[in-house]
Amino acid sequence: APRIVWLRRDLRLADQPAFCSAAAQGPVIPVYILDDERAGDRKLGGASRWWLHGSLEALERSLAGHGLRLILRRGDCVRHLLALVQETGASGIDAIRHYEPWWREAEQELADQADLQLHEGNYLAPPGLVTTGAGTPFKIYTPFARALTRLLPLRDPLTVPELTPVEAWPASDDLADWELRPTAPDWATGFHETGTPGETAAQAQLEDFLDRAEDYGEERNKPSADGSSRLSPHLHWGEISPTQVWHALEQHHGTGSETYRGEIVWRDYAQNVIHQFPRYPEESYREAFARFPWRNPDRDDAAAADLKAWQRGRTGYPIVDAGMRQLWAMGWMHNRVRMIAASFLIKHLLIDWRQGEHWFWDTLVDADYANNGVNWQWVSGSGVDSNMFPRIMAPLSQSEKFGAADYIRRWVPELAGLSDADVHDPADAKRPASYPAKRIGHKEARERALAAYRTVKG
Ligand code: FAD
Repeated sequence: APRIVWLRRDLRLADQPAFCSAAAQGPVIPVYILDDERAGDRKLGGASRWWLHGSLEALERSLAGHGLRLILRRGDCVRHLLALVQETGASGIDAIRHYEPWWREAEQELADQADLQLHEGNYLAPPGLVTTGAGTPFKIYTPFARALTRLLPLRDPLTVPELTPVEAWPASDDLADWELRPTAPDWATGFHETGTPGETAAQAQLEDFLDRAEDYGEERNKPSADGSSRLSPHLHWGEISPTQVWHALEQHHGTGSETYRGEIVWRDYAQNVIHQFPRYPEESYREAFARFPWRNPDRDDAAAADLKAWQRGRTGYPIVDAGMRQLWAMGWMHNRVRMIAASFLIKHLLIDWRQGEHWFWDTLVDADYANNGVNWQWVSGSGVDSNMFPRIMAPLSQSEKFGAADYIRRWVPELAGLSDADVHDPADAKRPASYPAKRIGHKEARERALAAYRTVKG
């Protein structure tokens, strides 16, 4: 009897244990279900849909090379999978385990009604594997990273198994009918610069990065340089596995690749937090933040205007605006600038981090429940780790320190004519009329944020 392989954020053939397990048991029916119902508020954002379209197209192509089709269905995933088991006479379903709460629920329901075999494959180690000496999960990154790294690698990457097609394929939707990509207006034309969806492109991106990995430690913090790997959407969608990346880096023992491994471990760390606190991206972890006097855009027009200015990249802070415009144009933003822009929304504009998290969820091609939620709470200081709220980042000095002049000139064309000295914080006389004034001065914002913080502290 055939086996169904249920695909979600694991859109690859190599190092894909669900395919290996299914192929060892019979002919394989790969299935992707677009389930907007179960995820509720967490249904895929616009940018994610764009990437998903390309990734499914690429997977269809590579499966065709093995004589296989990709079966597409839309709606409740459990209902569809149970129906597919009936229709095809499959003995059951293989899938890589996912830790988002809606996926965990779906897996539970499915396991009660069908032979569901779940496999680990999207993280360096299964979340929950490493624990403290007392056997409890880690909350803080550094000890987690130390304990995890000691165990790595847990295994070598798996090769693509021999895949046998079924004789009769079940009905499938047409990918084009899902309309995952925008047409008029096509706001995603700039997304191609971020990367090409799919496993082949992910491998090529890794190869390209390995040549630069030695410089990563130095270059990754500079928004004007192309110093990071740009693997985030590929890793998010599972077009490449962290085990594959780790394995490739083993050839590169330079300090840059050490730093890089630390970032890949951050990804496991974020998942380790979600594993302990599944609703972490929805609520501040520290209780005091429930009382925080956020300025609420739903009730306060000035706050609403500030939020909009932030989203559109019109805050009057060049580095923040460059980042937010890059995000809109490319579906991706440089990590250092993500931190600056997030900090600006939370502390300068005093708007709840969840507003920013939601915007990123909709606009990032790498929008990830764990990575996004954990990083937003890290910046706001409301999370499990250090309380960073009183450390107010100064966007303008960050911009200078990390040499963001070219980055700003590219993304904020109104400022393209300004010199390195002026572009980070143009004086009124140099500020073009088309570029907005600062929504709020740094000093005033800093004082307001600290005063707000004092009301809930302790
Ligand atoms: P590289 O520097 O090349 O890093 C390699 C890989 O390590 C990344 O692809 C990513 O998988 C992982 N990684 C790196 N930094 C982090 C981190 N801080 N936390 C977790 N994993 C990390 N990353 C996402 O993948 N999805 C998100 O939704 C997301 N939201 C973020 C929101 C905020 C406010 C901040 C500050 C960071 C966020 N990040 C998110 C983390 C980070 O910014 C991106 O992973 C990184 O910029 C992606 O570019 P890269 O692949 O070139 O990164």
